[in-house]
Amino acid sequence: MGNDNWEGDRDLDEYSGEDWKNRILDGKYDNRYEGVGNFGRGRKNSSKPSKGRKKFIVIPIVILVIISFMFLKADINSDNNTLDEISSSVDVSTISDTIDQAKKSLDTSELENSANNFASDFSNSFDSNYITVSYDRIPSFADADIVRNAIVHANQKWTSANSDMTIKLVDSKGDIHIEWKKTMYGQHAGQITGGLMEVELGSLDCNARWNHYSMNMISDTIAHEIGHYLGLEHHTNPNHLMYGEDEFTQRNFDDLGYNIPSHYSEYTSWIGYDQLESKYDQLNQEYGIMFQEYEKLEREYSKYPATIYDEYQYRQATQLYNKLDNLGSELNVMSSQIDRLVNEMNCYVN
Ligand SMILES: [Zn+2]
Repeated sequence: MGNDNWEGDRDLDEYSGEDWKNRILDGKYDNRYEGVGNFGRGRKNSSKPSKGRKKFIVIPIVILVIISFMFLKADINSDNNTLDEISSSVDVSTISDTIDQAKKSLDTSELENSANNFASDFSNSFDSNYITVSYDRIPSFADADIVRNAIVHANQKWTSANSDMTIKLVDSKGDIHIEWKKTMYGQHAGQITGGLMEVELGSLDCNARWNHYSMNMISDTIAHEIGHYLGLEHHTNPNHLMYGEDEFTQRNFDDLGYNIPSHYSEYTSWIGYDQLESKYDQLNQEYGIMFQEYEKLEREYSKYPATIYDEYQYRQATQLYNKLDNLGSELNVMSSQIDRLVNEMNCYVN
């Protein structure tokens, strides 16, 4: 099959119209959308609307170019050939000739350009290089200046690390929309599902008193969640913006081609504090259970008379006494562990 059979660009133009755009959209292209609706801690799914998306588009284009050539050949040979007939008449070597031809006449950058054009035509819901951000009215319990600065800083972190990225604050609903939470009571300060980001503006200390987060802390939370929006998972290093310990932590972190900005030191302290807090909660819970057991044994022990004459009863009482003694020592150790934690957390229970 020679050059003159398909006359290069002119024929390709014929197939770059709405028709095959729609076919791409009906087919593989849908893959890109599956992941977008489902990010964020605990709700991620494996499909990533990331820089890797080009491959979903380029492959169908090559396939369609081949199909186009088949149709073209059909036109030349006979007007009424069906696709089946074409398939049987086109042998493998002809197809690979066709692919070679396509490769020669269409250089890769051109292919990628058209892929990018389609991406921008159809990806109203996701574009990793142009992201709009909107946010709910800042609640009255929060410091509006701190919160506004935090958003701006988070966006700047990403755009200054990635020169091709634009993040724009918009009034109407953006690709990412932020909802503010007073606290999320959990071990994370934010989460994102699709474009809906939830960010807590403070947390409760061990006296259940609410404390406003710093600008840096809120900013890092937003920047971390933007990372999830871009398709990033969790990193094992607490000094990494995408740090997180859960089932989405990647031992071999994939940066998906992004330059990932660093975070402020407050974030690391928060992680440290967060770990102390969960240790505190755990110890407190264990202490509570053990203390109940202690009280139960104590009640049993108190049933024995002050002076016991029966030898069997005396042995039972002594056993119980030893148990209580051991449990008491364990409780003391725990209690001083809790005290140390409270000191570290700088939070004294009333
Ligand atoms: Zn996360």
